[in-house]
Amino acid sequence: MKKLKIAIVGGGASGLIAAVVAKKEHTTVDLYEKNQSIGRKILASGNGRCNIFNTSVSINDYYGEDISFASKVLKRLDFNRFREFCLNMGLLLDVKDDGRVYPLSDEAKSVVNVFRAYLDKLNVNILTNTPVLEIEKTDAKFTLFNDDGILGEYDKVLIASGLLAAPQLGASKDGANMALSFGHLLNPVYPALVPLELDGTLFRRMEGVKMKASIALYVDNKKKGEVLGDILFTKYGVSGFAVLDISSQASFYLKSSRKVEISINLLPGIEKQYIGSRLAFAQKNLKEYDILTVLSGMLPLKVAKAVLIKIGIDAKETVSSFNSKSIKQIVNEMFNMRFEVTATHGFKYAEACGGGVKTDDICVNTMESKLAKGLYFAGEVLDIVGARGGFNFAFAFASGYVAASNMALST
Ligand SMILES: Cc1cc2nc3c(=O)[nH]c(=O)nc-3n(C[C@H](O)[C@H](O)[C@H](O)COP(=O)(O)OP(=O)(O)OC[C@H]3O[C@@H](n4cnc5c(N)ncnc54)[C@H](O)[C@@H]3O)c2cc1C
Repeated sequence: MKKLKIAIVGGGASGLIAAVVAKKEHTTVDLYEKNQSIGRKILASGNGRCNIFNTSVSINDYYGEDISFASKVLKRLDFNRFREFCLNMGLLLDVKDDGRVYPLSDEAKSVVNVFRAYLDKLNVNILTNTPVLEIEKTDAKFTLFNDDGILGEYDKVLIASGLLAAPQLGASKDGANMALSFGHLLNPVYPALVPLELDGTLFRRMEGVKMKASIALYVDNKKKGEVLGDILFTKYGVSGFAVLDISSQASFYLKSSRKVEISINLLPGIEKQYIGSRLAFAQKNLKEYDILTVLSGMLPLKVAKAVLIKIGIDAKETVSSFNSKSIKQIVNEMFNMRFEVTATHGFKYAEACGGGVKTDDICVNTMESKLAKGLYFAGEVLDIVGARGGFNFAFAFASGYVAASNMALST
C-alpha cells in the first residue's frame, strides 16, 4: 500500500499532538519547525510549569467570531481523553482544585521531552530550523517551499504555525499568509492575555505595587465585564493576572478604535460605607492626622498618594478639615479609580493572539479547509483565543488532535 505523506507546519502544541496522532503504519509524517527546537512556547508557558489543560472547558472560556466552533472541537478531546493520550506517551498530569492541569513534574520541560521522545519512537521526521513559507497545490498534491526552494511534496498538510503572540519564541504570520494564498480570509489580529498601557503618567507613581483589586472594563462608557485578582502597576500601565484576564476583551475593542477604560476597585470585598465610616472616625478621633496618613492605613502608600493626586487633594491637609462632600469624593476614587487604556503592551508581551483565519471556511468535524481539500488548520492560527487557565493549550491540542485523526484516514 502506498504511504500517505503528511506535512505539519509548526512544532508547537497543536503540531506536536497532530504529529503523534497522524503517524500510523500507512503514513509518513514530516514536522517542520522554524526554530532550532520544538515546543519553545510550551517551555515558556505557565511560568515554566505549563498549565497544559483545564478539566472544565466551556464556551465562555473562548473569544472569536464563532466560539461554538471551539466548543465543538473541544468536545472531541475532553480532559479524560487527553489524560489517556498523555499517559500513553508517559506524561503524568496533576489536576489542581480549580481545574487547572499541569504536568505532575510541575515542569514544562517534561511535556516537551516526552513529546520529543514519543515522536522519535514513532519515527516522525522532525525538521527543525526549517520554516515553511509557501504551499502550492497542484492536482491532489501539495508542494512546500521556503527560501531555499522545494522542501517536499505531500498528500495532506496541516498549518499549525500559531500566530503573532510572543514572536521571540517563534510566532509568525506565515501560516495566516499561506491560508490567504488559498483564498481563506483573516479576521484582524490583536494581542490577547497582555498587559495594558494607560493614559497619562499617574500610574507611574504606583510602579512596583502589586495588590488585589477588582477591575472593571468600560467600552464607550458601557461596562463589559469585571474580574478580581492581582494588579501590578508598571512604568507603562498595568499588568498582573486580573489585567491579563480582562485584556483580551480590551484589546479586541481597542483594535476598532473604541474608547476603552478600566475602573479599579482598590478595596474589593469591602463595603464603601464601611470605608466612609472609618474616615468619619478619623475625622473625629484622629484629627491631627493628615489625609495621606489616614489613607495609608487602608492602602499601599504609593496608591494612597496617587488617589489624592488624582482628585487634586493635598496629602498634607489634616483629616479634620474635610467636609462630607470631599470625603465622599475620596471614597469614590478608592472604589472607582479610572484610567483610559491607550494600547496593549504589544504582541511581544502577549500570551495569545486573537483574530486569525476565519473558522467559517474550516470544517469543524475535521479541521479541513473547505476551500482546499487536503489542507488542514489547528491551533492559534485560527480565530479562536482562550482565557487564562489552560484553555489555549486545550484548544491547540484538541484542534490538532481532530485534524490529525482525519488526515490519517487513507481516503
Ligand atoms: C509566555 C507564554 C505563556 C503561556 N502560558 C500558557 C499556559 O500556561 N496555558 C495555556 O493554555 N496557554 C499558554 N500560553 C498560550 C499557548 O502557548 C498558545 O496558545 C499555544 O502554544 C498555541 O499553540 P499552537 O500550536 O497553535 O502555536 P505555537 O505554540 O505558537 O506553535 C507554533 C509553532 O510553529 C512554528 N512556526 C511558526 N511559523 C513557522 C513556519 N513558517 N514554518 C515552520 N514553523 C513555524 C513556531 O516556531 C512554533 O513553534 C502561553 C503563551 C506564552 C507566550
